[in-house]
Amino acid sequence: MKLSYLSKFYQKSLIERWEALVSAGVIAEDDASDMNNHLQLPNEIANHMIENQIGTYDVPLGLGLNFLINNKEFVIPMATEEPSVIAAASYAAKTISHAGGFTTTVHNRMMIGQIALKDVPNLALAEQVLLKEADDIIEKANAAHPSIVNRGGGAKSIETRIIEANDTYDSPDFLVVHIHVETLEAMGANIINTMVEAIKPYIEELTGGSAIMGILSNYATECLVTSTCRIPVHLLERAGYTGEEVRDRIVEACQFALVDPYRAVTHNKGVMNGVDAVVLASGNDTRAIEAGVHAYAARSGQYRSLTKWTKAANGDLLGEITFPLPIGTVGGSISIHQAAQFTKEVLGSPSAKELESIIASVGLAQNFSAIRALVTEGIQKGHMGLQAKSLAISAGAKGDQIEKVTKQLKQAKNMNLETAKALLSKLNK
Ligand code: NDP
Repeated sequence: MKLSYLSKFYQKSLIERWEALVSAGVIAEDDASDMNNHLQLPNEIANHMIENQIGTYDVPLGLGLNFLINNKEFVIPMATEEPSVIAAASYAAKTISHAGGFTTTVHNRMMIGQIALKDVPNLALAEQVLLKEADDIIEKANAAHPSIVNRGGGAKSIETRIIEANDTYDSPDFLVVHIHVETLEAMGANIINTMVEAIKPYIEELTGGSAIMGILSNYATECLVTSTCRIPVHLLERAGYTGEEVRDRIVEACQFALVDPYRAVTHNKGVMNGVDAVVLASGNDTRAIEAGVHAYAARSGQYRSLTKWTKAANGDLLGEITFPLPIGTVGGSISIHQAAQFTKEVLGSPSAKELESIIASVGLAQNFSAIRALVTEGIQKGHMGLQAKSLAISAGAKGDQIEKVTKQLKQAKNMNLETAKALLSKLNK
């Protein structure tokens, strides 16, 4: 890729952006010639994706730039309706790329299926029996979905948990069997659901209990990814602040989000601005990721920051994010949604592990950008500048008027819809 063609990307027209992507070797020439149609989801396909379909709902697709992840450059498609998210991610990625970029670790890629049992006559004995028959259980699970085994994956191990009766919720004792499945390039919901439903009767037979359900768990604690970065202080200087000051303020902002759930939720919302945008653009299930990530953020019993920013012994700023990211590069709607296929092409057809690394790095970049702004000039300066454009459009500005109203709105005392309408009507006189 020749990413120099993408410099000043934000200043280019739509056509120029597509041409630049071809020149940079990010997309093929054929894709650029009919880009809008290329990204559009036809009603015929949409109708097969959901029930009672009546149309499609568009969300802008943009590109996160300047990402250097494990020494490889990436241009990252991001689907989001929120102004400033992509600018912030690209800006952070630029600083971090000057510092050597992101380094990632995919700890494991195992999904979890659960079978929950009640009325188990002897919980301790049942656990012993299950662990003794683990190989048999795994074999039966794999027999229910042989194709994933042929591909090199499949059920690998089991684990048992006892959840004691709880008076507050009037719930009985539950014996829970977890089956760990390597789903390779798939997120694996359907693979796992098929397996757990198939082994449910056998688990009942072994334990004497009654299975209340068998289903994938979206709390994918066996599918964690970490992205880290290391930024020397000279790259952190901002008008009015030394690099050391910015570093120390970022560390404090993170400490605050580690101990205060009111802050942690907003802090993590910023992380998810980037994460969700790539999860959606890649055709993955945003709800599955959101549910798992927030449960992980609360694993200590209190909801905390997903990121950690600390000071290294030599004074550099160290950033780290770890969370569950059970995404896929096949399955679900990925192969039938044209925009998801486009995302795959732009990312260079990454494996599921690479895609995890990309998404985690976008989350860390997004967080860096947000807290760096928060602890220096404040978030509103950059955010409201971009918000001005949305206000101009909401006020009815079209074509050239959008830029004109946006420019005046940025200088106005009150940046709101009323001012935008007044500026537009003045322009139209
Ligand atoms: P699919 O069942 O659609 O696709 C996975 C299939 O892709 C595999 O079974 C396999 O079939 C095939 N495949 C082809 N190449 C590979 C490869 N290299 N690695 C692995 N599989 C491969 O998708 P998932 O099971 O991943 O399910 C994801 C969908 O399920 C999402 O759309 C999600 O929204 C939905 N869902 C989510 C739930 C949840 O999160 N709780 C619950 C229910 C559904 P084969 O080997 O036979 O070719």
